[in-house]
Amino acid sequence: MFSFSSIKDYQANLLNGQTSCVEAVSFYLEQIKKNSHLNAFLEVYEKEAISRAIEIDAEIASVHALGKMHGVVVALKDVLCYKDHKASAASKILENHTAIYNATAVQKLLVEGAIIIGRNNCDEFAMGSSNENSAFGNVLNAKNNSCVPGGSSGGSAVAVQAGLCMVSLGSDTGGSVRQPADFCGIVGLKPGYGKISRYGLIAYASSFDQIGVFANNINDAALTLEVIAGADDYDSTVSNEPVKSFSSLLKDDTEKKYKIAYFTEAIEHPSLDPEIAGSLRAFVDKLIEDGHTVEPLHFDLLDYVVPTYYILTTAEASSNLSRFDGIKYGYAAKDNFTDLTEFYKKTRSYGFGKEVKRRIMLGTFVLSAGYYDAYFTKAQQVRKILADRTAEIFKNYDALIMPTVPSPAFCFGEKTNDPIEMFLADIYTVFANLVGIPSISLPLFLHSNGMPFGMQVMAAREDELSLLHLSKRIMQLAGKGQ
Ligand code: GLN
Repeated sequence: MFSFSSIKDYQANLLNGQTSCVEAVSFYLEQIKKNSHLNAFLEVYEKEAISRAIEIDAEIASVHALGKMHGVVVALKDVLCYKDHKASAASKILENHTAIYNATAVQKLLVEGAIIIGRNNCDEFAMGSSNENSAFGNVLNAKNNSCVPGGSSGGSAVAVQAGLCMVSLGSDTGGSVRQPADFCGIVGLKPGYGKISRYGLIAYASSFDQIGVFANNINDAALTLEVIAGADDYDSTVSNEPVKSFSSLLKDDTEKKYKIAYFTEAIEHPSLDPEIAGSLRAFVDKLIEDGHTVEPLHFDLLDYVVPTYYILTTAEASSNLSRFDGIKYGYAAKDNFTDLTEFYKKTRSYGFGKEVKRRIMLGTFVLSAGYYDAYFTKAQQVRKILADRTAEIFKNYDALIMPTVPSPAFCFGEKTNDPIEMFLADIYTVFANLVGIPSISLPLFLHSNGMPFGMQVMAAREDELSLLHLSKRIMQLAGKGQ
């Protein structure tokens, strides 16, 4: 029977004829069927994935050379455009919308030989932390079906967690890759802002959005990043730095000793589950035993990050989502309107879910003439201070560690009536998006309630390589052999 441990081993098996892409795809299609109750996929490209596998198998037989993602079975969060396939952002307003071009990240995967197996369920327009905001139903955590998988990229996380694909792409505006990775016990990588083109990524908050990767191990995440990163004529915010060959540069380096910081306020935060705090403290001791320097830092701005994030992202969202008006894209109200305003109202009232409406209203409010300076301008100022303070920290340290989420995966319905509580749980993840640094959630721990949880590691802007190196070291130290 087909089994998967890493892209490298899989591709070696392809080359020596021990397996084939058709075998791999057939296996995943079977697994997806068996696990359909998890609701991780909104659509599975069954026939197409098989024909592409046949094509790619033929290629290997004729040229004996592999593209970097040759035969790799990938799932895409339903916010990424894949030409001639639906892209709905898990929203009724885009339910029947078909992408007319490939997102740059998707295009790069295809060029390197990846096989796209389907599109994943998520929170509507990537807004949420539990996947309870999808217009197409909840995604279940494969470890415990009464627990949320996290959000907003819940379907993509569960697709990797439950072995329904090899790697998947999500998007991370304030933690939507790292938080579900934490809840599902897998690796979730959010590169620095501007590492991967956002062209073809349905926008939530453009100055925060980044495509991210879910994987079973660091090498697979590194390889996928290397393939999808890099300058793009269609997105001027992408860095022009040449993309490093992360996968070949990643070494098992036990010699290098890192200088690591953590925020006292983060470890001592009243919202943090004591067991998570205890595991992190114990891991700090382990890092010190391994010869690294780990130092506490005071960071008195931690309680400002969630309000700053929600003011700025809702402002950007209110502007980004104004394009969904029933004329340019997607659903359009058919009757019961007499003028254009009423048409917009009918379209948007029906098309958007409750959370998206909440955020559009919040964003419109913080941008409104009377409140702009009090909220939007203030939040921009805080963002600038956060960025400056962070740059200072990385002058002296290689990395920053933090919990990923204050608690392990919670139950369905537990936080839906209290949006503020839901928002506050983003305290540890939104920081990296506010300041644009790369960050990863590593699946290190198991809670006494049986659910996994991770640790977050961050590095300086543009330093994904150190982040990946240290992550590998940490996984080895934790006995999670990589
Ligand atoms: N949970 C956060 C939010 O709801 C993060 C979302 C995201 O990263 N897309 O905004």
